Amino acid sequence: MDFLLPLARQWVAGNTSDEGLRRARVANGRGLGAILNFLGEHYTRRESVEATLREYRAIIAGIDAHGLDAAISIKPTQLGLGMDEDYCRENLEEMRERCQAQGVFLWLDMEDTPYTSATLRIYEETSREYAETGVALQANLHRAVDDLRAMMPNAIIRLVKGAYREDSRISYRRKTDIDENYRVLMRILFEEGRRFALATHDDAMIQEGLTLQEEYQRTLEFQTLMGVRDPLKRELRTRGLRTLEYIPYGPHWFAYFTRRLRERPRNAILMMRSFVRS
Ligand SMILES: Cc1cc2nc3c(=O)[nH]c(=O)nc-3n(C[C@H](O)[C@H](O)[C@H](O)COP(=O)(O)OP(=O)(O)OC[C@H]3O[C@@H](n4cnc5c(N)ncnc54)[C@H](O)[C@@H]3O)c2cc1C
Repeated sequence: MDFLLPLARQWVAGNTSDEGLRRARVANGRGLGAILNFLGEHYTRRESVEATLREYRAIIAGIDAHGLDAAISIKPTQLGLGMDEDYCRENLEEMRERCQAQGVFLWLDMEDTPYTSATLRIYEETSREYAETGVALQANLHRAVDDLRAMMPNAIIRLVKGAYREDSRISYRRKTDIDENYRVLMRILFEEGRRFALATHDDAMIQEGLTLQEEYQRTLEFQTLMGVRDPLKRELRTRGLRTLEYIPYGPHWFAYFTRRLRERPRNAILMMRSFVRS
């Protein structure tokens, strides 16, 4: 699939940690913070987990060596959560220690619902040791409001709509319902939270966040994906709002690339046109 990598580069920094770090520097040059993610998930073999650990060690050291404004974001199943919670815990502890030593912020991505409770559990344990740790919370889940209330006021939350299609008995499926829950969660964050991130490209959510920010003046940041809505990032920056770009990289980029294409079929058409022309 490597022949498609030039097309995927809109959303993916490349195959290697050097490319990830280089892209983080570009983001910093544009006034954006970076969040580096080594792609891969749902590992069932220790070798895959160990390869992931090696990669994040290099990334954490690289962020420090190059003085980058960058965090890392890890999927718990990359660290073995699907194999054994204690194994994941042990691996995360090592990552936490390294982040803590280098002053790098540590985010936990939220994956599909078999892992929600365990992810919140290990987040809680990790953040007790190192305050510069945050976790994503998905507005498409019915449980999100209860989860959020249980974590307030100290948890650092990245509020997302949710990337996984879940059973309708436990999740909202319609955009209007997900948006409504996002608004409810956002309000709880502004009322009870201290520090959090709104990770969305949706103008309506961002507008509402900006309005609430005028009233509550929280430590707020906006997070966006690499390759998505660059003018919006510039606008947020120009208004003096901290904005970060989530930068995925690594050899498992193909699944991520196709997810971005599915999300916006127009992207696929534009891409095929440029591919045919070149
Ligand atoms: C930094 C970051 C971290 C994330 N981490 C997680 C995580 O840990 N777990 C998880 O489940 N999900 C995560 N997500 C994904 C998230 O859950 C959504 O699937 C994704 O962000 C799309 O939702 P949206 O809020 O942008 O709004 P949507 O409702 O998908 O889109 C609303 C509007 O935003 C604009 N828009 C959206 N996408 C594009 C695009 N590609 N190009 C141009 N305009 C666009 C359009 O105007 C669209 O109408 C993350 C997202 C971000 C930005």
